[in-house]
Amino acid sequence: MKTTVSTIEGSRQQLFIGGEFVAPKGGNYIRSYNPTTGEPWYEFAEADADDVAIAVAAASAAFRNPNWRRMTQTDRGALLRRLAELVRANADALAEIETRDNGKLLKETRAQMRAMPDSYHYFAGMADKLQGDTIPINRLDTLNINLREPLGVVGMITPWNSPLMLLTGTLAPCLAIGNTVVIKPSEHATASTLALAELIQEAGFPAGVVNVVTGTGQSAGEALTRHAGVAKYVFTGSTATGRRIAGNAAQNLVPCSMELGGKSPHVVFGDVDIEHAVNGVVSGVFAAAGQTCVAGSRCFVEASVYDRFIDALISRTQRIRVGLPTAEDTDVGPLALADQLSKVAAYVASGVKEGAKVAVGGGRPQKADLAPGGWYFEPTVMVDAQNDMAFMLDELFGPVVGVMAFRDEAEMIELANDTRYGLASGIWTKDIDRALRFANRIEAGTVWVNTYRSASFMSANGGFKESGYGRRGGFEVMHEFSRLKNVIIDYSGAMQDPFVIRLK
Ligand code: NAD
Repeated sequence: MKTTVSTIEGSRQQLFIGGEFVAPKGGNYIRSYNPTTGEPWYEFAEADADDVAIAVAAASAAFRNPNWRRMTQTDRGALLRRLAELVRANADALAEIETRDNGKLLKETRAQMRAMPDSYHYFAGMADKLQGDTIPINRLDTLNINLREPLGVVGMITPWNSPLMLLTGTLAPCLAIGNTVVIKPSEHATASTLALAELIQEAGFPAGVVNVVTGTGQSAGEALTRHAGVAKYVFTGSTATGRRIAGNAAQNLVPCSMELGGKSPHVVFGDVDIEHAVNGVVSGVFAAAGQTCVAGSRCFVEASVYDRFIDALISRTQRIRVGLPTAEDTDVGPLALADQLSKVAAYVASGVKEGAKVAVGGGRPQKADLAPGGWYFEPTVMVDAQNDMAFMLDELFGPVVGVMAFRDEAEMIELANDTRYGLASGIWTKDIDRALRFANRIEAGTVWVNTYRSASFMSANGGFKESGYGRRGGFEVMHEFSRLKNVIIDYSGAMQDPFVIRLK
């Protein structure tokens, strides 16, 4: 891969369509900003409806092209393995690019990129394992089979928080099945997806199998989700945008997979080691500066240990090191966008107005080593929170946790489920019966017991309620990106008179 942070710095990045990097038809480019300084660092192409139409046409042609359509499953798997190894060889460079673009800690992006090849290998192994069924039909001399086939062109719209890792979980299975893809990365972090496109080209995927159209949601995103040539959308992003995209897709009766926002409950019972639970709550909400969809941003603590827990949480939060995302000793880096910074600050202020108290944090850190223009926000604990306060109702996507006490299990489950979201949840308890009752009653797609944010591409996950539908990971995802075709074959060699009805 030729692309690195220094080749991107000050450059103009192009669209990737039909196997080539090309300029946008309208000739427009958008600035991308460095979150640690707030300064621009490169420009990327602004795709309009014409560019999107060309990309969908390229993906459509690639889908029909025998070079891809008639490639054996084994060969498709081999291509994905080649890509996996290219990602492995370039993992650290990809991590540096993504960190520069979205401000996520370098140690985290490195860990994500180094884990990605395993995910490509996992789905490469499924390329030759997707199979249909033979079904009884209650008729002699007849074979009734269901075939599994690719869908066609899949539109993928990704967010800025973990662009490549989130893309891998859907791109790899999609390609393993034989679909073609048009990706619209977030306008706040496009660089790593374009670098991946270079690796896709290097791996030898036929031209047009993967295309990348960069630009805003309002232009490129809208054009992609209104295009009649797309067979399915995978959207990862906010619930508000998901609602809009599902509406657009409905006009063409196109199905979607929606991986949306969350306001996940994190529950602590008094029977656990408080230090361990505090570590879980802290990593669950402050990791990646709270910019994770599964952030455990509503924390419910058993009343008998509430004061002890709050003291421990405050003391642990005060020890979090906010700093440059590239520094090895940083725990929490900047937010990825200037808008995020003002949004988080406004929600904290509204929480205080509604009666919550800032126990620790609550503002921008004052540290000499941080550029004053950087988008940093202190890890923040809000006590005396209530579920109906704005900062407890809405997803902040920032390092803020609201804490409240509960008396018993019945009240806890009511409070935990009192949200329009249903992405993830966590519980800390040594009582296995209680943990299982929680897992049974909680309205969330993922339940963590005595851990948080532990995930694997080998298991399917996704949201309930307004956190979305469709699943990523595990073998289930192979069904998300393929469709069934029913084939009935009469092998009697003697078609019966259709107007003679034989009753039993
Ligand atoms: P966002 O909804 O603002 O943007 C996501 C993508 O949608 C971007 O590429 C954007 O350009 C595009 N977009 C925006 N408007 C569009 C439109 N009208 N038509 C088509 N595309 C449009 O989300 P974000 O701020 O980039 O990401 C943060 C959100 O993503 C949070 O809500 C977070 O919870 C969610 N998220 C969910 C998961 C999950 O797996 N459930 C994972 C990561 C992030």
